[in-house]
Amino acid sequence: MFFKIFRLIRNFIMASVSDKYKEEFAININEINLTRGKITAVTFIVIEVVELVILFTTRGHAFLKKTDIYYAAMDTVLILIMIVYLLMFVKLENSISKHGLGIKVVGVSFTIMILFWCAGISLLDQLSSGQIIVYSISIIAVAVTPIFKPITLLLMYLIVHLPFLFLVPYFQKSSDILCANYINSTTFLIISWMISCMRYKNQIDDFNNRKIIQEKNDELERVNQKLEKLSQIDSLTGIFNRFVFDKTIEAEWDRCKRYFIPLSLIMIDIDFFKAFNDSYGHQAGDDCLRKVSQVLSSSARRSSDTVARYGGEEFAVVLTHMEKESALKFAEQLRKRVEQLAIPHMYSSVSNYITISLGIYTVIPSDMLSIEQFIKTADEALYEAKKCRNKVISA
Ligand code: GH3
Ligand code: MG
Ligand code: MG
Repeated sequence: MFFKIFRLIRNFIMASVSDKYKEEFAININEINLTRGKITAVTFIVIEVVELVILFTTRGHAFLKKTDIYYAAMDTVLILIMIVYLLMFVKLENSISKHGLGIKVVGVSFTIMILFWCAGISLLDQLSSGQIIVYSISIIAVAVTPIFKPITLLLMYLIVHLPFLFLVPYFQKSSDILCANYINSTTFLIISWMISCMRYKNQIDDFNNRKIIQEKNDELERVNQKLEKLSQIDSLTGIFNRFVFDKTIEAEWDRCKRYFIPLSLIMIDIDFFKAFNDSYGHQAGDDCLRKVSQVLSSSARRSSDTVARYGGEEFAVVLTHMEKESALKFAEQLRKRVEQLAIPHMYSSVSNYITISLGIYTVIPSDMLSIEQFIKTADEALYEAKKCRNKVISA
């Protein structure tokens, strides 16, 4: 039984977040404690001001009685202390991550000050009623309002409780009441500390659970991004696939139509590729497709240019904001670069190397023309180029 309780308490005390989140957790706790510290300070100020007002209005001329002056002085001192703490909390709030230690020190001193103050009031109460209600409330309040590490709160309790136990006999002469106060205040303190331990453990569990959810979400997001990327890439050549071409041409068509800007499309086809496959083998054909793809995509340097594998040994290049002349020049460059790859093709009747034919069409999109007609016209230009091969034809 004792061992079980010991293990339970040890679990509370030992609960912690993983090293990589320690700083974030500390900032989190500091944020909560600062807000609660401000609320506590304001509450004390309001209560003490109300007390002063009541003292003033109810006592009238008798206000100058000695005990009343003591109470008024204590209220005023407490108001001033609370104002100082409130200002410190507001200042520290400006940069919580930078003032981690400062927030802890101010928070601990604030809590100890409240405990001492309330213990003092309970000591004075021994002279009249013999109650320890004010001190007891402060013990439970500091267990449930701020969030402290169990060991920190235990030390704070001991700093206040030991002097309290030592001083009570000087204020309380009845040994029965004294004994009851000893037992009650200490039991109250132990229970409050255990409540605080449980809250601290819950705080850590909540934080860890939130982090696990966040990590899983991030992982899911990464997998989604990877999948999305994979779904856009042609597995053989590594350039964009037909799906991206269809989406891009649609989006760019709308964009160019809206802003009255030219849109160029180059349709490309490798010459005599069947003969290449048949003589050099499919593996060599695949290598050739990869090399041609790389030349095409590395030539298109503007972020608005899109090179995609249209299908088989055909490619398409979408060039937003490109006039007919520039598109022609660019297509001619592509043709030359592919031939310069110097991939031997003994069975081509236009060159010793692999070559491409290109058909271009440039328009400023409008309602007069559909995307299908646009692609068809570029394809017809390619068909014309195919009559000679290793050639660029503009529609
Ligand atoms: P043209 O000059 O008129 O374009 O003739 P061509 O032989 O290039 O055209 P054709 O349409 O007759 O043949 C295209 C060939 O491309 C047929 C097919 O085997 C080959 N091909 C299509 N996709 C792939 C691929 O992914 N890998 C390989 N190795 N070959 C492919
Ligand atoms: Mg073809
Ligand atoms: Mg071909």
